[in-house]
Amino acid sequence: MAEADLREALLALDGRSYGEYRRIGGRAWTVGALALTVEHVQGDPFAAPSRVRVDAPASALSLPRESTGTAVARRATADFLHRALADVLATAGRARDAGAGTSGRIEILRVGQEILERTAVVVTADGGARVRLTAGLPADGRRIRARAAVEMLTERLPRALAEALFRESLDRGALARHVAAVEDQCALRGSLRERKLVAFLAEGAVLPRVSGVDDRPLRGALALCVPEELAVELEAPHAGRIRGLAVREGVTLVVGGGYHGKSTLLEAIARSVYDHVPGDGRERCVTVADAVCIRAEDGRSVRGVDLRPFIGRLPLGRSTEKFDTDDASGSTSQAAAIVEALESGAVALLVDEDTAATNFMLRDARMRRLVSADREPITPFLDRVRQLHEERNVSSVLVVGGAGDYLDVADRVVAMDTYQPHDATASARAIAAALPLPAEAGPRAPDAWPPVAKRVPAAASFDARRGRRGERVRSRSTRSIELGTEEIDVSLLAQLVDPAQCRLIGDALLALHRGLCDGRASLPELLDRLDERLASEGIEALAERGFGDRAQVRRHEIAAAINRLRSLRVG
Ligand code: ADP
Ligand code: MG
Repeated sequence: MAEADLREALLALDGRSYGEYRRIGGRAWTVGALALTVEHVQGDPFAAPSRVRVDAPASALSLPRESTGTAVARRATADFLHRALADVLATAGRARDAGAGTSGRIEILRVGQEILERTAVVVTADGGARVRLTAGLPADGRRIRARAAVEMLTERLPRALAEALFRESLDRGALARHVAAVEDQCALRGSLRERKLVAFLAEGAVLPRVSGVDDRPLRGALALCVPEELAVELEAPHAGRIRGLAVREGVTLVVGGGYHGKSTLLEAIARSVYDHVPGDGRERCVTVADAVCIRAEDGRSVRGVDLRPFIGRLPLGRSTEKFDTDDASGSTSQAAAIVEALESGAVALLVDEDTAATNFMLRDARMRRLVSADREPITPFLDRVRQLHEERNVSSVLVVGGAGDYLDVADRVVAMDTYQPHDATASARAIAAALPLPAEAGPRAPDAWPPVAKRVPAAASFDARRGRRGERVRSRSTRSIELGTEEIDVSLLAQLVDPAQCRLIGDALLALHRGLCDGRASLPELLDRLDERLASEGIEALAERGFGDRAQVRRHEIAAAINRLRSLRVG
């Protein structure tokens, strides 16, 4: 249908009741070079705004080949266009004389510092773009304001898109830098395993953030300065050879006085599983994709997890082989988090003393003497951390400012001093030799790691209809995901960075509810199936009900949400 038809259809609705807007929904209108579809029409001006999809052809965008040739380049380009459009809409998205509710407002999802595959802007292999945004169809009270709607859909919206995306306005230099930054991060991350690194942080990187709720770089921060003993050089396709801090496989301790930047370093490592925008300060910092933050989270539920590597012989003979609780303690929750991370395929564990359970991390000499080993069910992480590396090839990066016992088990010690790293490995060895722990107090050679049990989730675990007539899955923040009547608390997952990721986890839970979980496949097999679906069909396919508010998420965060589902039942 042509633009004139849309104009005519809207004008015919002038002054009618708001619900009549649905007549323009569901079909594509050609507006200039664009195809515009109102995929969902809001029921009234105070409801969630209408959802508009706009297809822009390759000819209008005229994107350079280098920015659309690969999936990585397309993700970077889509992110670039998304940010450009968000900038334009920050002013053009508001109507001059707004009416009731969301009237006249055009919005696209907000983005943070990460460059994620998203459903808001998708660049297709042929160089076109699919854009999903929201539009508050104009109202006067609960009546249709047709002229304002015509202005919005046939003038303001197309103009904003042209201004942000079309070849005349596209900043090709900035686009090329954006794509290069992402390609470099992918290449650097891809080279970590063969260089036996867990993470790499380029010299000059800016790690601290403005605040806990503002992820932009801290102004006036000291840039990372890497001493020779900790340095490594990696090759990036665009930037060439880059020197940076090597976080090697094995057991790495981060030590140093309080307030010297230990947690900041660990957080930068945790977040660098994602690509960052140029100017972020971390755009040349990369971490292996399967590095997982581990912390204590008392009060969470645990379902059928084999805690024996860390907790055995509970009082009154209770077994910890398939451990269930609705209210885990700090140490139990941290033990479960590690076993669960191994199950979802983690290759590196990131632990900060600030959020760890002390009695899980270690038991010191005096306590080992006071409470004999056969009365203490906990095998501290200290006793297992080397075994994890040597037998299971899982590395650990641990922030420990106060637990000198760890000097005995570290491969390397990085000391943070005034926000700068130094190699303290040799002095840590010397101290460990000069002040040895009493024989009964040092780390013990642990029992063999029990064979990894297969947890098979029951299909009924993912009941999106529980207590309701229809399916219900939703999420509004990075704090929680609602499934049926249950609210999954994901607020402490440090590597969940965007509410759009939570909504995609919701889609994954819905797919499990609708049959993906068959009661026979193990949890890792289910995660494989989801990964395959995401890899072959993209996130748009999984987010079938979703709109421009979904973003890619790792299997570890999907698993973490499943593991926090109180209705989870495993066989
Ligand atoms: P620690 O874990 O060693 O106690 P943090 O990492 O929490 O220390 O850092 C303490 C404070 O120093 C934080 O407010 C952080 O933002 C700030 N900070 C960290 N790194 C830098 C830096 N490179 N330049 C300036 N300030 C920094
Ligand atoms: Mg700290």
